[in-house]
Amino acid sequence: MRLLLVEDDIALGSQLHHALKKAGYAVDVSTDGVDAEAVGDLEPYDLIVLDLGLPKRPGLEVLSNWRKRGNQVPVVILTARGSWQEKVEGFKAGADDYVGKPFQINELLARINAVLKRSAGSVAGALKVKSITLDEDKQELILQNDQRQSLTATEFRLLRYFMLHPGQLLSKSKLTEHVYEYDQDKDSNVIEVYVNRLRQIIGPELIKTRRGQGYIFGNSD
Ligand code: CA
Repeated sequence: MRLLLVEDDIALGSQLHHALKKAGYAVDVSTDGVDAEAVGDLEPYDLIVLDLGLPKRPGLEVLSNWRKRGNQVPVVILTARGSWQEKVEGFKAGADDYVGKPFQINELLARINAVLKRSAGSVAGALKVKSITLDEDKQELILQNDQRQSLTATEFRLLRYFMLHPGQLLSKSKLTEHVYEYDQDKDSNVIEVYVNRLRQIIGPELIKTRRGQGYIFGNSD
């Protein structure tokens, strides 16, 4: 999953950036409202964490501009502590959830996870498809016989994306866009290598290849 983090406070921004990456997300960062609004429309993010107090353009305006243009990307806003007005305004502008500053990073991570699952039409809690379960906290896979298998950062990101979109045809370029950050080298052939590694771990039948089109996860047709 690929997130955009919009935060102008350098110290908090870098702390959040680090925590989000550690939690297994590909993360791009923006530090002002004008830049954030542009990249939020341009790049196919799975979720945006949006601070409301931003230079150049306030976060609420950025959010309502996205929604006016039909951009439905899930958004978690960061509001000032105790400001119920900001929360109400945020929901009116189209926010999916909020966290009030100051907050525990684990609370933000839990809310992001819940919003991502909701927007993918998946139930909250453990991510389970067929015989495999993904432990998102430990970034490990739990196989049928309760055996645990650790995953590299890219394997984890790719498998989580697959598991949140079962039965959907996913092209290599789409997977690349959701697994890598903006400035990372996006060679979609590398996806093939990672898919083959995942097949070695979870078995070959869970990820089907559609020649020239991409992959379908978890469909046993
Ligand atoms: Ca701010």
